[in-house]
Amino acid sequence: MRRLAPSDHVIVVGAGLAGWRVVESLRREGFTGALTLIGDEPHAPYDRPPLSKQVLSGKWDVEKTTLASSAQLAESAATLRLGLRATRLDVEGTTVELADGSLVTGTHVVLATGSRARAFHVDSVGELASLRTRDDVVRFGGVLDGLIPGSVVAVIGGGFVGAEAATSLHTRGLRPIVLEAAARPLLGVVGGEVATWLERLPAIAGVELRTNQRLLDVVRDDVGYELLFNDGTQLRASAVLAAVGSALDTSWLEGTGLVIDDGVVVDENLQAAANVAAIGDVARFLWRSSLGEESVRIEHWQVAIDHAAHVAKYWVSGEGRAEIMVPYFWSDQYGKKIQMLGHPHPSDEVALVSGTPEEGKWLALFCRDGVVTGIIALSHPRALMLSKELLTTRTTLDDALGLEPWIA
Ligand SMILES: Cc1cc2nc3c(=O)[nH]c(=O)nc-3n(C[C@H](O)[C@H](O)[C@H](O)COP(=O)(O)OP(=O)(O)OC[C@H]3O[C@@H](n4cnc5c(N)ncnc54)[C@H](O)[C@@H]3O)c2cc1C
Repeated sequence: MRRLAPSDHVIVVGAGLAGWRVVESLRREGFTGALTLIGDEPHAPYDRPPLSKQVLSGKWDVEKTTLASSAQLAESAATLRLGLRATRLDVEGTTVELADGSLVTGTHVVLATGSRARAFHVDSVGELASLRTRDDVVRFGGVLDGLIPGSVVAVIGGGFVGAEAATSLHTRGLRPIVLEAAARPLLGVVGGEVATWLERLPAIAGVELRTNQRLLDVVRDDVGYELLFNDGTQLRASAVLAAVGSALDTSWLEGTGLVIDDGVVVDENLQAAANVAAIGDVARFLWRSSLGEESVRIEHWQVAIDHAAHVAKYWVSGEGRAEIMVPYFWSDQYGKKIQMLGHPHPSDEVALVSGTPEEGKWLALFCRDGVVTGIIALSHPRALMLSKELLTTRTTLDDALGLEPWIA
């Protein structure tokens, strides 16, 4: 790997969190060469987590999500190509073609194109509103502004974004009804036991959750929407939001020679090819944990930031990662904070080690073959952070129970 020189030109595709942070990190590491930041959204880089929380609840103006002020953008000396989609990549020539036909040629390319909201199409009204971008929240906020207090808003999907959106709608004085297709929300992420503990949160917060809901169609009429389910039941709502997960759009990278397999496949230093890296939501990377190596793609805010810092350091100084990266995720829902460290599998065993679901404050360990793989907490932030060391070295459940770092 050749270290970056002042004569080099780094092209960053995707002007979201990871894209902007790699620009910042490259400058912080001392890179003085040319930088071009390409983004298909018309906005300066902004932060997504507040969209479903502070912005949807009406507490923040959407402007407050901006990550890069005009002064910061100017200081970065990056050339901005916003509102333009990258449509083709020449890996050998490190050249990116944009939707207007123009070409940008550099020496290095960072792919930071994130993921998108999974589209939910229904026969009668087409694609339902979703919540991924600034424009999505402004558009849906406009719909909500026209509703009277207590209006029913159907939220399809009880995952993280659906739960956060329902919480914000409730804060606005509306009546969200969360419609989850599975037997309980988040089953596929945290497994059955933890999902059962989390399932009690909406009711305590006064939000209705309906599980095993298979939506067949949504019909629009003069007064709102009629939702039709496969068991023959119906629901009237004044607005509908689909929060059914995310999807990748890597079709523009097909035929480039890069390996695409539910993400752009990269090595442990996030390299997809010589001088081409992928970071953030779009990267399927080789993650070294205390249990060994695993190929993962992780859609967490903290991971995107960590990747940006990692690739900048690697390209500027040649230094790869020495320590174990512990993924971190949080979600604010139904008046509680869920936080998770590590990347457990939903099939991992669970040991509740502090608090109880009844108290609404707890900490649990995930374990596989007797080794700790993850830590999840509900409104127990200090205990979670004190326990992080359990994931930086291989720790058995017995050792963890002996150490009890969450108590300190
Ligand atoms: C509503 C919401 C709430 C969230 N809350 C949390 C939370 O509480 N905690 C947490 O850990 N994570 C949360 N996340 C996830 C977190 O925001 C993402 O992991 C993070 O944004 C990933 O950053 P990224 O830069 O990889 O992708 P993105 O932020 O998606 O940025 C990618 C950018 O690239 C652009 N792009 C895509 N294709 C092209 C192309 N071909 N050409 C040009 N530009 C392109 C996209 O339009 C986008 O602007 C949330 C996400 C959402 C949507």
